[in-house]
Amino acid sequence: MKHHELEVLNDILSLFTKYLLLTWMIFLLNYFNIFLIYYYLFLHVCNRCGKSYKNKTSLSRHVHHECGISPQFKCVICTKQFKRRDRLKRHEKEVHSTQ
Ligand SMILES: [Zn+2]
Ligand SMILES: [Zn+2]
Repeated sequence: MKHHELEVLNDILSLFTKYLLLTWMIFLLNYFNIFLIYYYLFLHVCNRCGKSYKNKTSLSRHVHHECGISPQFKCVICTKQFKRRDRLKRHEKEVHSTQ
């Protein structure tokens, strides 16, 4: 009788462990889904290269001025190339401003 009770207890415990594992897996799956939903709703992704941006303006600037465009702005001092004029200007200011 006592042995049988122990077996029942073991069954309940194993069921409980399985239940916990299952809930944990569902939780993880949901967490992953939330991440995907967030990714699709709140991030703007470039169709061409997959880069993601937090706002639409940054994405459209990327698509029009950066994506698939070879660097066309060249630093006259160190010949480093930039895709955007403002980046070049910033580079000149930060790196060569002492001259
Ligand atoms: Zn892109
Ligand atoms: Zn330079």
